[in-house]
Amino acid sequence: MVDRKQCEELDRNDPLGRFRERFLLPEGVLYLDGNSLGALPKAVPERLREVVEREWGWGLIRSWNSAHWIDLPRRVGDKIAPLIGAHPGEVVAADSTSVNLFKLLCAALEIVPGRRVILSEAGNFPTDLYVAEGVRDLLRQGHELRLVEAEGLLDAIDETVAVLMLTQVDFRTGYRHDMAALTAAAHRKGALTLWDLSHSAGAMPVDLDGSGADLAVGCGYKYLNGGPGAPAYLYVRRALQDRVRPPLSGWMGHREPFAFTAGYAPAKGIARNLCGTPPVLAMAALDAALDLWAEVDMAALRAKSVVLAELFIATVEECCAGLGITLASPREAEQRGSQVSFRHAQGYAVMQALIAAGVIGDFRAPDLIRFGFTPLYLRHIEVFDAALAVAEILREERWNRAEYLRRAVVT
Ligand SMILES: *Cc1c(COP(=O)(O)O)cnc(C)c1O
Repeated sequence: MVDRKQCEELDRNDPLGRFRERFLLPEGVLYLDGNSLGALPKAVPERLREVVEREWGWGLIRSWNSAHWIDLPRRVGDKIAPLIGAHPGEVVAADSTSVNLFKLLCAALEIVPGRRVILSEAGNFPTDLYVAEGVRDLLRQGHELRLVEAEGLLDAIDETVAVLMLTQVDFRTGYRHDMAALTAAAHRKGALTLWDLSHSAGAMPVDLDGSGADLAVGCGYKYLNGGPGAPAYLYVRRALQDRVRPPLSGWMGHREPFAFTAGYAPAKGIARNLCGTPPVLAMAALDAALDLWAEVDMAALRAKSVVLAELFIATVEECCAGLGITLASPREAEQRGSQVSFRHAQGYAVMQALIAAGVIGDFRAPDLIRFGFTPLYLRHIEVFDAALAVAEILREERWNRAEYLRRAVVT
């Protein structure tokens, strides 16, 4: 087992160690939930103050031009592009992940006419599947949402499939799909792929272009640290962009929004996927949060993520033997994203006790305690201490208190 000394050594030699001071994190908290809500980059409050006071307060409506508010969705998209293996002009920031899924799923079904199956995974994030049900019911063209287990996906891709819609990294277990292999299989059968990158962008290198992926969406408030409810983003491979017919045909996606002409005509390229006026304050926060990624070596990010996760798994398993906890994530780093989950029959109460002790992770029904590893701002020693805290809470049954057993609305 790794010991404290080795963790301190790893932290001293951490090539990403310098990013920690770029974030505001409260004293006394070990934050292993950056996969649900990323921490606050120090650059964000500064930028927001400027946008609110100078651009809004003083510039008023002039700031749409003078402060380039109108370009924010494109500019933010271009900052996200290198993190997901996209080219400039292939990504735009807009709406929420759920709404972007709706838009791109509708577009995909129209690009592949004559096919009726949306293929996805039974364990996919619920909103992704709810949206697919909604699209199916709205279109009334006999579409089918076909759900299979992860292991059965390759075999389930056949000539009836219009679009393969998957989340690259599973939100419960951290299991990571082979994006290139699944995309290639879909293309061999003439289907498109739509990837949800919510748990992968900013957690590890993603290569949409290299994988040949067609469409993608993702979340701004997890590993990208854009703040609660941050705008999401969407990706459309260049070659498909002018074949997309936007189902939410709003003026911001119009060819000439300020010509105020009658009749909708979609903009060229990625911009047609916009709908209404961008939320400037939220966009500015995400924009500022994204700046530090230009300095990040993604290979180093992935390497640290793997070390943190292995350190955590090894320490928890060593210290919690016989305490009713089992690994729910793949043991092979190659098959994982940047999070690790364990099962425990009293998972909810265990997580509440951990949070009370200053170790913030989260709980996912029915029995998972989940820990996210954000290599930009986590230290090895913190991950080690968090694992020891799990062991202490289980050993002393500190979870067994009425206040920890009572469920809150948000888990
Ligand atoms: C977080 C997450 C979402 C969030 O969707 P919202 O529309 O932002 O609420 C969607 N899908 C996946 C896979 C996620 O992890």
